[in-house]
Amino acid sequence: MKVSVSRRQLNTLCVFTIISVLLINVYNAFYVNAMQKQQIKNLESELAKAEGLIALKTDELANLNRMLEKQKKELEIEKENVRVDNLQLEDIKQPSVINYNNNKTMFLTFDDGPSSITPRVLDVLKEHGVNATFFVVGSFVDKYPGYVARAYREGNAVLPHSYSHDYSIYSTLDTFYEDLSKARESIEKVLGTDLPPFFRFPGGAANQVSYAYGGKDIMYLITEDVKKQGYHYIEWNVCAGDTTEYRNNKKKLISNVLDGCKDRDLVVALFHDIAQNTAMLEVLPEIITALKEQGYKFKTFNQLNQEEMDNMMKLGIVDMEIKKPK
Ligand SMILES: [Zn+2]
Repeated sequence: MKVSVSRRQLNTLCVFTIISVLLINVYNAFYVNAMQKQQIKNLESELAKAEGLIALKTDELANLNRMLEKQKKELEIEKENVRVDNLQLEDIKQPSVINYNNNKTMFLTFDDGPSSITPRVLDVLKEHGVNATFFVVGSFVDKYPGYVARAYREGNAVLPHSYSHDYSIYSTLDTFYEDLSKARESIEKVLGTDLPPFFRFPGGAANQVSYAYGGKDIMYLITEDVKKQGYHYIEWNVCAGDTTEYRNNKKKLISNVLDGCKDRDLVVALFHDIAQNTAMLEVLPEIITALKEQGYKFKTFNQLNQEEMDNMMKLGIVDMEIKKPK
C-alpha cells in the first residue's frame, strides 16, 4: 500500500514537531530554573541555620568568658582578703605600744555585713554588755534594714564600708565617691540620723586589687582627697583572720586576736560579719571574756574621743598614709 503524504500534512507535521521541541525547551527551562531556585533556597536556609548556630556558640563563648572573668575577679578579691589579713598578722610583730594612761581600750569592728548571722553577733554583744562598730555594705543594709536598726538601737555604731563592695569603685575618684555617698544614704535612711565622717575602705587603704581598676596610684589619690573632704578612714591593728584559710579553725581565731592584743593598749580588731563565719561567732564569747579579763574597755567609733583619735592617727589606724607610687 502506498502511503501518500500530502504537502499540507507534511507542513503540519513540521510545525507540530517544531512546537513540541519548543515546548520541551520551555518546559525544561522552567523546570531547571525552579529546581535551581529550590536548591538555592535550601542552601540559604542551611546557611541561616549555620549562622544561627554560630551566633549561639558565640553567645555561649561570651557567657563563658564573662563567667571566667567574674571568677577571676572573685579570686583576686579573695586573694587580697587573705593578703590583707596576713599583712595584718605580720604587723603584730611590729612595736606599736602606746602608754595610754593605762587605759586598755578595745574597738571591735565587723566588716561586710549585715548578714544572716548579724542577729547572733548582736546577741553575743548584748549578753556580754559590750558594743562594736559595724562597717556595713549598703546593698545589704537595703536587704536587712531591721538588723542595722537593731544594732544602732542597742548602742553599736553603724558606719559605711561600701555600697556595692565591688572593687570597680576604685576606677576613679568619682566612682569612689558615688559608692560612698550611696552607702552613707542607705545607712542614714535606716538610722534616721547623719553619720560621722568615718568609713572603712573595702580591702583597706593599702589594698592592691584597686590597681586593676584605677591604676597603681588610685589609693594614694583617693586617700589624699577624702582627707581634704573631711573624712577619716579606719584601718585596724588586730585581725581575727576570719577570711583566711583558718576561718574555721577556732583555736587560731582566738589566738590571732589575743596574741595580736599583746602589748597593745589601743586596739581596733577586725572581724567579718558574713554568713559563713559561724566559727567566728562561736568563739566570739570566749574572745570578749578574755579581753575583759585583760582589762579592756569596749568602745565604738560613735564614742571616739580626741585623745583616742590622735593616738589612732599615730598608729596608722586612722588615715594611714599611702605613699605616692614612684
Ligand atoms: Zn570588706
